[in-house]
Formats: sequence, structure tokens, C-alpha cells
Amino acid sequence: MKSNNFWEVKTLDQLNRDEWESLCDGCARCCLLKLQEDETDLVYYTNLHCEYLDLDKCHCQEYQDRSTLVPDCVTLTAKNLENLSWMPSTCAYRLLYEKKPLPSWHPLISGSQETVHDAGISIRSFSVCESNVEENNREMHIIEDFS
Ligand code: SF4
Ligand code: SF4
Repeated sequence: MKSNNFWEVKTLDQLNRDEWESLCDGCARCCLLKLQEDETDLVYYTNLHCEYLDLDKCHCQEYQDRSTLVPDCVTLTAKNLENLSWMPSTCAYRLLYEKKPLPSWHPLISGSQETVHDAGISIRSFSVCESNVEENNREMHIIEDFS
């Protein structure tokens, strides 16, 4: 039977703005600070989150101005996903770009914004604000086996 789910019948560049925004599961994993190793270019996630994140809601408090306030904060588009291999492996945009299905905890599947937290995918339960940690100590906050 043919699917009625827009994310299964449209390509990423065919989505309208509301559809595009609704793909975000609200995990805030992309708001974690990342460190890149000079020699290897490998990217490591830390448990530190951007100072503009409302951790309880896992929402950006400066969404409209985020690119100005945080130049490293990438605005996702259907076109730049191919260059963003460091995006979290659970990210809906990455999953669809890689032609993988959305997981059962995704709000579009479950019908609830809470399932991303209940499933332990969001960063709400373990993240700390970057402004609480000195820059020299950030390496101590690298999370092993996180992608
Ligand atoms: S990692 Fe992807 S799904 Fe999660 S908050 Fe960021 S953009 Fe949204
Ligand atoms: S500016 Fe907003 S969207 Fe960008 S990393 Fe910070 S909290 Fe996340």
C-alpha cells in the first residue's frame, strides 16, 4: 500500500517549510559542542551544550538569530546534508538523507514530543551548559561512543 507520510513520498528538497521543520525530533544532539582532532579531523561529541539552548525544552532560545550569534551553528538544508557527516546518527534529516526510516520514538511516528526523551535520545538527561566549564577543560567532557 502506498504511504501517506510526506517523509516517505517526498524527497528532502520537495518538502515545504512546515514539513521540513516537523522532521526535527527535538533531541538537541546537534547543539552539543564538538571537538575536532587536528591530525585526523575526527569529530568528538562532548556532553556540553550551547549556551543558547533551553535544556529542559531542548529548544534553541535564539532560533531566528542563531547563525549570527553562533557562526558554527549550521542551518540545515537539503543541499548541505551531504557535507554534514558529523550530524548525529539519529538525526531525522541524516536518516532520510541516508534513505533510512524514522525510528519509532520519532514524534512523527509516535505522535508525542515526549518519546524522544523517554527513549533516551535527547540530551536533556545528561548535558551541561558550556558556560559552566572552562575552555581548557572541555576535552574532559568528550563522550565516548557517541555519534
Ligand atoms: S540532531 Fe537533527 S533531529 Fe535532533 S535536534 Fe538536531 S536537527 Fe533536530
Ligand atoms: S544557537 Fe541554538 S540551534 Fe544553534 S547550537 Fe546553539 S542552541 Fe543549538
